[in-house]
Amino acid sequence: MIAKPISRRGLMLVLSSPSGAGKTTISRRLLDIDPNITMSVSVTTRPMRPGEKPGVDYYFVDMPEFDRMAESGDLLEHARVFGNCYGTPRSTVEQALGAGRDVLFDIDWQGTQQLAANARADLVSVFVLPPSGAELERRLHTRAQDSAEVIAQRMAKASDEISHWAEYDYVIVNNDVDESVAAVQAILRAERLRRTRQVGLPAFVQSIQAAL
Ligand code: 5GP
Repeated sequence: MIAKPISRRGLMLVLSSPSGAGKTTISRRLLDIDPNITMSVSVTTRPMRPGEKPGVDYYFVDMPEFDRMAESGDLLEHARVFGNCYGTPRSTVEQALGAGRDVLFDIDWQGTQQLAANARADLVSVFVLPPSGAELERRLHTRAQDSAEVIAQRMAKASDEISHWAEYDYVIVNNDVDESVAAVQAILRAERLRRTRQVGLPAFVQSIQAAL
């Protein structure tokens, strides 16, 4: 008897952190290194920032369109962050997972809680902490994109975001980007080998047993 090859359902890798902890850099590096990871592109009602591309950074939609998507179940999760709405389109994520591709999410604690409630088996959540409060403040101030008002808002929101660290499966202190990327790769490597994710495993083991 020849067993079917072992295939794997994709997993949902969530990276959350306060702004400025280095999550975006870690995400970009992972996507460059690992061809099996797809980034989930969210929809948002917030205005596009200079340098952002529609369909790459976000799908930029107006409020009526966002409400329509949320009401018709097109979003896997959605939340209001800094006064704007953000959500994860369902269909692209489900297609990727079914095809054995892992999906990377840059979403906040509210979205992570919803995924934990609705899709726990597929979820691997990682919280990225900054090396210190002072370093986080420094990083927020050296970001060119945002106004002083937005920076102040983000500082206030950072402590709110950090208060949810204990809801995550893994926590990384981002002292060094290379080390943090290696840590996420190690998490991925182990999580991909979980018995429950390896679809053809029972048949494969049976084929071994049949030979004994
Ligand atoms: P930004 O506007 O700076 O791109 O993102 C602001 C915050 O919204 C970040 O903490 C980011 O993780 C979060 N966010 C982005 N997309 C989504 C989403 O689809 N769902 C949720 N819940 N949060 C999101």
